[in-house]
Amino acid sequence: MALDLDAIYTDLHRHPELSFQETRTAGVIAQRLTELGIEFEEGIGRTGLAAVIRNDDNAAAGERGPVVWLRADMDGLPVEERTGLAYASTARGVDPQGLDVPVMHACGHDMHVTALLGALERLVATTDEWRGTVVAVFQPAEEYGAGSQAMIADGVLDRFPRPDIVLGQHVTPLPAGTIGVRPGTQMAASDGLRVTLLGRGGHGSRPQATIDPVVMAAATVMRLQTVVSRETDPRDVAVVTVGSIHAGLKNNIIPAEAVLELSLRYPDDEARARVLEKVERIVRAEAQASGAEEEPIIKVDHSLPPTINDDEATARLSAAFTRAFGDDKVVDPGMFTGSEDVSWFAREAGVPLVFWFWGGVDPQVYAEAAASGSIERNIPTNHSPFFAPLLQPTLDNGVANLVTAAREFLATR
Ligand code: ZN
Ligand code: ZN
Repeated sequence: MALDLDAIYTDLHRHPELSFQETRTAGVIAQRLTELGIEFEEGIGRTGLAAVIRNDDNAAAGERGPVVWLRADMDGLPVEERTGLAYASTARGVDPQGLDVPVMHACGHDMHVTALLGALERLVATTDEWRGTVVAVFQPAEEYGAGSQAMIADGVLDRFPRPDIVLGQHVTPLPAGTIGVRPGTQMAASDGLRVTLLGRGGHGSRPQATIDPVVMAAATVMRLQTVVSRETDPRDVAVVTVGSIHAGLKNNIIPAEAVLELSLRYPDDEARARVLEKVERIVRAEAQASGAEEEPIIKVDHSLPPTINDDEATARLSAAFTRAFGDDKVVDPGMFTGSEDVSWFAREAGVPLVFWFWGGVDPQVYAEAAASGSIERNIPTNHSPFFAPLLQPTLDNGVANLVTAAREFLATR
């Protein structure tokens, strides 16, 4: 019986799970893979799965066609869904700090998982048309930037046929039907930094006896804005975002410390080194300006490489997409300042990667927003509480993209 992809998607959407907690999601995937008769292993890199379709005529004699890896990520985010969809999530989870948080598939990873299941169904049904091996990787914890490395550390590259190419896709606020792909840097490198500013706590009425980390944090956040605006070549891409700032518990207590969490983005390793150096200099100098008695603690929480698409494979895939979907459907979306951990699979195996974006917005809604110049304001992006990919044709498109891409790199019969 054919998979009901719409139902799988809405079910996953209703039941998002935080990074490294995707056990229900893994269960759904395992059940569907079993129904499709596809060989798989669970619990790789904690909650990940990998599945394989072996379709070589004479593998025993060493005749082996190409090995194509297709990757989908599985995790949701601590966001309270406000889409108003009938299948909106009301789920909650416990984050790594032990806090009870709302959970939402605000990045569309439910779409990625469902599209990959649909692609596997179609590839299994058409094994008389192609030759080679398909490995499907259902990866946990993309949002921590840790899931692909966890699967690699757990031996996914050795437990399954090693890839000749790694392919993956991400749903994005482009018009449905559009595919965005470019050779070279497709997504930025990123670091998550945790900065602890150390002051001296005391009574709110006696600031002269304290070193106030709240003021130190405020000055630091403002000064950090100059890394991009004053110290980066306007032609270069860099982002410095302070996404979280925590200090204090009560109005009349000056706390002893403040914690800032930063997200930094850049196109390459050189820019990374430059931005990190400037951030560190400002953090230390502001602490000193505040009279801090202890150096701030700067810790890199996670670090993601740039997502770089192989030139030759990308040209080949763009041509295949153009043939399949039409000339006007394939665009160069430019470099995205978001980051991904998909490229670890390709980097570790030493093989090409192609990672593309596909649109999930009603084309008419998109056209109207474009006409009124309100795309940034009116089209919710990934991680927004309003992020709601149009179920169809986005899902069918996601399946078609993966099948087209896999077939391009597999052998034909
Ligand atoms: Zn995301
Ligand atoms: Zn994502």
